[in-house]
Amino acid sequence: MSEADESAEDPAIPVEDAAVDRSTPLEVEGLRKTFGGIVAVDDVSFEVEKGTLTGLIGPNGAGKSTTFNLITGMHDPDDGAVRFNGEDITGLAPHEIANRGLARTFQIARELEEMTVLENMMLAPKGQVGESLWRSVTPGLRNDVRSQELDQLERVWEVLDFFEIDHLAEEYAGNLSGGQRKLLEMGRALLTDPDVLLLDEPFAGVNPSLEKRLLAHVHELREQGYTFLIVEHDMDLIMNNCERVIVMHQGRILKDGTPTEVKQSEDVIEAYLGGEV
Ligand code: ADP
Ligand code: MG
Repeated sequence: MSEADESAEDPAIPVEDAAVDRSTPLEVEGLRKTFGGIVAVDDVSFEVEKGTLTGLIGPNGAGKSTTFNLITGMHDPDDGAVRFNGEDITGLAPHEIANRGLARTFQIARELEEMTVLENMMLAPKGQVGESLWRSVTPGLRNDVRSQELDQLERVWEVLDFFEIDHLAEEYAGNLSGGQRKLLEMGRALLTDPDVLLLDEPFAGVNPSLEKRLLAHVHELREQGYTFLIVEHDMDLIMNNCERVIVMHQGRILKDGTPTEVKQSEDVIEAYLGGEV
């Protein structure tokens, strides 16, 4: 725990496109959450830069999902703050946070399994009215209500097509494979018009070829300007795909840096290779 106060002089994250906006839509400061006697999240602070894939990794029980839940409004923190696009969103309800453009995926609920993929998408919460990335790539926005429904249907098909599950539109969600479900879950999240997407173990239970496809979609969306925070326990996956990696261990941030910096961290090696504590 000796490097809790590492200086911030690390070089800028090597994102290829030079024109990347380096603002930080998501900022987490001093988050703390206890459950009974367990400190699940302990003074966690980090920022997520716009247009990046940022990975949040750590061994089981490190506090990743709790951090995720604190950011998305599923839990209230005991201490600390979450800021999104410069505004304090600490303690807001999950749907209010989603409405501001900070989306997360949800597992397809049981009752939605008995609906088709298309119905699932049409029932996805709609994004806030206003400027959005999605609309900026969807020309011809119409204004009256009927047209808005048509727009929704159009966007649904665009998203289905993007994730290459349009041929499954009439399939019951309950019949999808694990990986196809993940695509549907991500598709539903995308329909809320988010700026930032939070994914908690999006590749769990997904076969390797679908994992590759899912990753390709994530990279493509990032290139379109979306920002991702991906929670994972698979270190290699994050190392190979994220430009920035935050490592949690026992509720705290162990390391925050580029994959190379993280790989070289003695603390990280010890935490992952089960070095005696
Ligand atoms: P991770 O996602 O990194 O595996 P979690 O955030 O799920 O870790 O868990 C961190 C710690 O908090 C663990 O010790 C876990 O048992 C505990 N914890 C998480 N959620 C709850 C809860 N709802 N009630 C009690 N303890 C919890
Ligand atoms: Mg977890």
